[in-house]
Amino acid sequence: MKEFEIAKKIGKDLTDAELKEAAAKALGVRPEKVGNVVVTRRSVDARQDILYRYRVQAYRQGETYEPYELPAYQDVHAADPVIVIGAGPAGLFAALKLLTKGCKPVILERGKDVHRRKADMAKLSVEGVINPDSNYCYGEGGAGAFSDGKLFTRSSKRGDIREVLHQFVRFGADPSILIDAHPHLGTDKLPGIVENIRLCIEEHGGEYHFDSRVTDIVPVDGGFEVHAGDAVYKAAKVILASGHSARDIYEIFERRGWALEAKGFALGVRVEHPQWLINQIRYHGKYQPFMPTAEYSFVQQVEGRGVFSFCMCPGGILVPSSTEDGTVVLNGMSNSARNSKWANAGVVVQIEPGDQPAEYQGPFALMDYQHDIERRMYEWVSAHGGKHPLAAPAQRMKDFCRGIVSKDLPKTSYHPGAWSSPLHELLPEHVSMRLRRAFPQVDRQMHGYYTNDALLLGVESRTSSPVRLPRDPETLEHVDVPGLYPCGEGAGYAGGIVSSALDGINCAERI
Ligand SMILES: Cc1cc2nc3c(=O)[nH]c(=O)nc-3n(C[C@H](O)[C@H](O)[C@H](O)COP(=O)(O)OP(=O)(O)OC[C@H]3O[C@@H](n4cnc5c(N)ncnc54)[C@H](O)[C@@H]3O)c2cc1C
Repeated sequence: MKEFEIAKKIGKDLTDAELKEAAAKALGVRPEKVGNVVVTRRSVDARQDILYRYRVQAYRQGETYEPYELPAYQDVHAADPVIVIGAGPAGLFAALKLLTKGCKPVILERGKDVHRRKADMAKLSVEGVINPDSNYCYGEGGAGAFSDGKLFTRSSKRGDIREVLHQFVRFGADPSILIDAHPHLGTDKLPGIVENIRLCIEEHGGEYHFDSRVTDIVPVDGGFEVHAGDAVYKAAKVILASGHSARDIYEIFERRGWALEAKGFALGVRVEHPQWLINQIRYHGKYQPFMPTAEYSFVQQVEGRGVFSFCMCPGGILVPSSTEDGTVVLNGMSNSARNSKWANAGVVVQIEPGDQPAEYQGPFALMDYQHDIERRMYEWVSAHGGKHPLAAPAQRMKDFCRGIVSKDLPKTSYHPGAWSSPLHELLPEHVSMRLRRAFPQVDRQMHGYYTNDALLLGVESRTSSPVRLPRDPETLEHVDVPGLYPCGEGAGYAGGIVSSALDGINCAERI
């Protein structure tokens, strides 16, 4: 087998004949001696001509090529149960892995199924009514269900990413995600995929219990009783995959004296530019409508802390992702076509334990700090005439950096609306100062990025969990509770759909 690269202008198809010819050249054989030719990666190269670069594996005829195969699911109707708390990516991929190992996943989810959940999210955007069990973070599919569905992760050490991508394709994703350097699903595709996962788990004997918020985890006789609503579920092992916002779960740990600790997270704003501007910048003025909507990412260092773009959504919209009343939190999502007029991204500053004011102490120090900043956003807007309960304080980018309240604001995709505010003062000064310094610096790499046509909205704060549930690095069990597996983003060991899914797989494998 030989690996080689081939490039082709975007908009022109790479034909089988071209691939075969290039493979023959790479192998040093005549085209009729070429066996399988497999494209393994496709990435955009916009440095000069706008190209797709393909990475390809070429096999000689007769040489064995083994395509990736997913493990088969077993019938687990009569098998021993494993309780999985949370139906986000970590919980769902843990459950799928349990099926392959002959264990019966019993999934307890505080929210609703992915279709009933939509009505609550519409209410949230239109009326500002937050259902604390059913919102952009809670419900079937977790925080990943109504998102951009970007599927890349920098953490290749966590496990085999192919397993996650192939599972998504098995349940309905476009196979292009298997080769794209920056794969994404889109919020129009995710609910169908999440539902197909459920149908498969149930068909093989797993169970789902919606509207089942877990209120206690009681160790009993070498196993656990898990309380959810009026029901009590029993199992020898529990995977806890409740995401980064489930304070009630962390309170169970505190009450029971089980270890938990404050963990760093990142805090900042959502930045919204016109998408045409980002297309112009990234494609150096050569953008054509058949090209992929342009993305960006950056990392800067300012005064010893990272300032970085987070969860960039090309052609996306902004959504309210608070889980409690009286707070304003934003996030972004996009559909598979990425065809809105806007480009949004979180731009956030790393916060380490100790960066918060001294009054915040203990394992909830950073969670309380995060929450108070979210509340400050809400309170400022509602005290200054905000018309929608979830309207976000907002400022044009250059006005933010100059410390001026904007006279007017550009249009935004954020349905509850933007409210002109002194965002530079509402954010903690150590965050504001770093953002002020970072935006003009980013302009040196992406000329045109630093502009008053860009809108900053507050606050982007649910970037990762501000609490960690420490676990044994080998067994992945909680250090104080054998048989309990803190898992995914809420445990503090993952961030994003793919890394949370991999963590779910790893926990299920340990069981
Ligand atoms: C709008 C938005 C867009 C995003 N876009 C992307 C993206 O494009 N790419 C990406 O990689 N990441 C994205 N993310 C982040 C990503 O969704 C999360 O990192 C990921 O979902 C974390 O997976 P998880 O399974 O660990 O937790 P979660 O997805 O948070 O799932 C936790 C689940 O546990 C349930 N739960 C909580 N408490 C309880 C309880 N007491 N009892 C029972 N159930 C409970 C919740 O209802 C939830 O369903 C986005 C997030 C949001 C909000």
